[in-house]
Amino acid sequence: MSPPKPLQRAAVLVRENGGYVLDIQEIAVPEPKPWEVLVSLSASGVCGTDVSLASGHLGPCRAILGHEGVGRIAAVGAGVDPSTAKIGDRVGVSWVRDVCGKCSFCRVPGGETRCVEQLNSGRRRDGTFAEYCCVPGRYLLVLPGSLDVADELVAPILCGGVTAYKALKSCDAVAGEWVAIFGAGGGVGGLGIQYARAMGFRVIAIDVGRDRKEECLAPAFDVVAPFGTVVCVGILPLHQTMSLYPLKFIDMGIKLIGSLVGTWTDTLEALGFVQRGVVKPAVWVIALDELPDAPVERVCLS
Ligand SMILES: [Zn+2]
Ligand SMILES: [Zn+2]
Repeated sequence: MSPPKPLQRAAVLVRENGGYVLDIQEIAVPEPKPWEVLVSLSASGVCGTDVSLASGHLGPCRAILGHEGVGRIAAVGAGVDPSTAKIGDRVGVSWVRDVCGKCSFCRVPGGETRCVEQLNSGRRRDGTFAEYCCVPGRYLLVLPGSLDVADELVAPILCGGVTAYKALKSCDAVAGEWVAIFGAGGGVGGLGIQYARAMGFRVIAIDVGRDRKEECLAPAFDVVAPFGTVVCVGILPLHQTMSLYPLKFIDMGIKLIGSLVGTWTDTLEALGFVQRGVVKPAVWVIALDELPDAPVERVCLS
């Protein structure tokens, strides 16, 4: 792998006139700290959360968004364990960029995605809408050499895909049972339909809006089965709430839980479905320079 350049192009968030634009700028390639690796990015998905962050709906964010990045390690900090990362390794750069390993969430197996000290791509660290980014060597998703999936198909699994897969894993349904996917016409929902079918569930797809009607299979209004599980996945604006009837949950033994992206193990499992050809992300590949003018749904940068 050639050594990193001094300058890189990045899509930089610029707020103006009450809205925002992404502006392609030439900026310095970040210098990896001793505990970091520098990743030369080759693809990045565009997630709905990027749009929410850019719009200011989720609080402060960085100028460089993006958290579905795929690339190769271009430089390794002096303090990184050489057994964990080496130049040329293919890695994924996701929403959870680093965790503390010590908090009450991190101490629970699989709990690190809720780490209270976590750093997030695009929120507390520059994201992947760029040619390079730095990632801590201690929390790194090195993609196995056996993973024969193109970068642009890996990218959407790193957030949207694993979010859908982990939510389905968490709902306690078994093959042959029904799952209802609300928001099925969106990116996560669409992947959720594919994962649910591949996992052997029967699927009810639900969404709203005329433009999304064709993407759904059936309308449903009250679909939670006895002892069923409601899994909250979609991120609403901070001020938005939803109402429910506690008695129904009591009478029917319904559980209400939240699911948040997935661990590296979940991510590799989710990528396995793509490798086996039973989940096929629908991506539209464009160049980084085209991002500012592109409709954001189903975009994957290259
Ligand atoms: Zn995301
Ligand atoms: Zn933690």
